[in-house]
Amino acid sequence: MNLLTGRNQLSLVSESELQLVASGQYNTFLKENKVLNPATSRDAATVDRVGARISNAITKYYNSKGKGSLLDGYKWEFNTVESKEINAWCMPGGKVVIYTGLLPVTQNETSLAIVMGHEIAHSVAKHGNERMSQGLIQQMGGTALSVALAQKPQQTQDLFMTAFGIGSTVGAILPWSRQQETEADQYGLIFAAMAGYDPREAIAFWQRMSTAGNGSQPEFLSTHPSDETRLRKLKQFIPEALKYYTPRN
Ligand SMILES: [Zn+2]
Repeated sequence: MNLLTGRNQLSLVSESELQLVASGQYNTFLKENKVLNPATSRDAATVDRVGARISNAITKYYNSKGKGSLLDGYKWEFNTVESKEINAWCMPGGKVVIYTGLLPVTQNETSLAIVMGHEIAHSVAKHGNERMSQGLIQQMGGTALSVALAQKPQQTQDLFMTAFGIGSTVGAILPWSRQQETEADQYGLIFAAMAGYDPREAIAFWQRMSTAGNGSQPEFLSTHPSDETRLRKLKQFIPEALKYYTPRN
């Protein structure tokens, strides 16, 4: 059972094992992309600031529920990469990347906090773990992650990148399920609100997102379908999230 959401989830892989794979994949990704320096880029500095506030909020949230140990092994990192792609993701262990192509859609710090809260919620709600486990069963007969990595390293890495919504060398796209999206919205709003960002901004942000991309559908929209159902549910979650919201001065 997932201790955040209370839902039963398939989990064949240990979090510590996933964090180990993630740190390797994360470093490779950063080497292969242009990472902006927060000391010289205002965008990267904003991403850093929002990330620090959201990760502090999550730690506070887990501690308040007596579940702080669930974040064991987390070493938060927030990086901004220069890319036209509209995308953002969080690997296990708190390894976050925001693509600059997303920033014209977020437009402001509060929307950035909304989308970052959403991505991190996918990660801490172990949705990637769930998808990785399903992939190991469907593609590799339920073999253990360490065995899969040893026997089929490329296929396993692709599976990992697809499971965590990063995109892979084979270009596979796997949309998050409706339930995963709903959970990520629900907890993402709470985390953003606790970090001092107005959760009501989520409506305007996801409306902008649904029309982003100038006709060609961005990968982010394929993995996070934005439609009327999402907006309706977001509106339902806002009163609860507002209970956690203290505006920043
Ligand atoms: Zn999502």
